[in-house]
Amino acid sequence: MIELRADLRARLDAAVGSAQVLTAADDVAPYVTDWRGRFHGRAQAVVRPGSTDEVAAVVRACSDLQVPIVAQGGNTGQCGGATPDARGNAIVLSLARMSRVRAIDPDNATLTAEAGVPLAAVQQAAADCGLLFPLSLAAEGSCTIGGNLSTNAGGTAVLRFGNARELVLGIEVVLADGRVWDGLRGLRKDNTGYDLKQLFIGAEGTLGIVTAAVLKLFPSPKVRATALAALSDVGAAVRLLLALRQALGDRLTGFELMSAYSIELSRKHHPASPDPCPGHPWYALVQADDCASDSPLAAQLEHALGAALESGLAKDATIAQSGEQSRALWALRENIAEAQRREGPNIKHDISLPVSAIAGFLDEARAALVAALPGVRFVTFGHLGDGNLHYNLAGPAAAAPGSFLENTARANRIVHDLVAARGGSISAEHGIGQQKRDELVRYKSDVELDLMRRVKAALDPAGIFNPGKVLEAGP
Ligand SMILES: Cc1cc2nc3c(=O)[nH]c(=O)nc-3n(C[C@H](O)[C@H](O)[C@H](O)COP(=O)(O)OP(=O)(O)OC[C@H]3O[C@@H](n4cnc5c(N)ncnc54)[C@H](O)[C@@H]3O)c2cc1C
Repeated sequence: MIELRADLRARLDAAVGSAQVLTAADDVAPYVTDWRGRFHGRAQAVVRPGSTDEVAAVVRACSDLQVPIVAQGGNTGQCGGATPDARGNAIVLSLARMSRVRAIDPDNATLTAEAGVPLAAVQQAAADCGLLFPLSLAAEGSCTIGGNLSTNAGGTAVLRFGNARELVLGIEVVLADGRVWDGLRGLRKDNTGYDLKQLFIGAEGTLGIVTAAVLKLFPSPKVRATALAALSDVGAAVRLLLALRQALGDRLTGFELMSAYSIELSRKHHPASPDPCPGHPWYALVQADDCASDSPLAAQLEHALGAALESGLAKDATIAQSGEQSRALWALRENIAEAQRREGPNIKHDISLPVSAIAGFLDEARAALVAALPGVRFVTFGHLGDGNLHYNLAGPAAAAPGSFLENTARANRIVHDLVAARGGSISAEHGIGQQKRDELVRYKSDVELDLMRRVKAALDPAGIFNPGKVLEAGP
């Protein structure tokens, strides 16, 4: 148990009220471990402000007393970004109580949400107005808008709508000196100098605390078509992606790749899931949406898949005949991450490559990893349309739980070197956090690292925001 400094306690109590300053070990515990139980830290307290002014007062207190602040939303991040380090001198700043949708402007197609609003609640608020907020990921019931922006989350609709940073028009941020930058503008055109909001998006809480954002909304789809195609190899998946793009244009909203083993795991831990098109090594989950209620979308998707089957590009295919069937196909994909966690520890890679380089990468990486780590099992799935793969490695079935993780550095070197050689990224959508900080130094150029360190020094000179995440902590 860590004692909360008396001077800090007084300032925090004054800022948010003592009931919102948690110090009991049981209360603090859920905030100092990530959801997978991979990262563990310590904190003096968990502080739960309810407004931007309260966040600002907390930041001023921590700035005056030189106390590190680790922002936390839904704690669903993948890289330990929201977990404090082991020193125990930080506070965790939970934004969960800032859960108000402040405004919806249907004519401007925007929604202003506080940082702690769960993503699913933003989607629902948009839907209630007949509009769409397209960011979508399996953690959407728990993750928050503040976390989504701070990690520049991707998800399953990037192909059509882009990452989180492309869905934001304005943000409100509490800066390291406690000032509030009100950048909550709902403008689609605003060329008045540097686009400062983009600095904070994807910064993982290292440059400021995001307290609210103006988000873009879109027309709601009226017709939805979902299909699963079975494929013999990843090259065929890439060619099918191109064929469906030609056939459907930007109505193609998602194209998810899954290996047969990924689906097997998903079904093992969720036995009620369907098993359409069994017996093939690869699968593509295809999603298309159209805003016109009389759209012939389903027939067009069927036609395009029929042509793929005829030419041998696809080996089998099924099209969902109802919303329920569509959800069941998506559940196959969305349950993979959770199934993998239940199955045991694995070495995760969240990589991106030019789509054209993916098949070659997979062949080369498999050969190198099989040679280096006998018995390795590949859990490969991801957002193929975005060139983003979750290239995860599980140990041999008979290996002692956890022992396979001893190979992490070796596996990372093989995978990340091959990714870098093909012009890819070692973190496509999950960020850097504490997990990939040292990898970042290895793969970013000196010029890029220097620019990043200068931005950090300019916005957070004393290094109070999430020290040791993304970049090394200051002296
Ligand atoms: C089952 C599952 C599936 C997932 N699928 C995807 C996916 O498809 N695509 C994807 O991109 N991610 C995915 N993720 C990862 C995760 O959901 C996202 O990174 C999400 O955006 C994190 O939101 P959060 O509110 O949980 O943030 P947290 O985990 O609480 O925090 C993440 C980072 O943001 C910082 N932060 C949080 N809130 C703020 C704030 N208000 N101001 C400043 N910094 C802040 C934290 O300090 C930390 O560095 C998945 C996770 C799970 C569990």
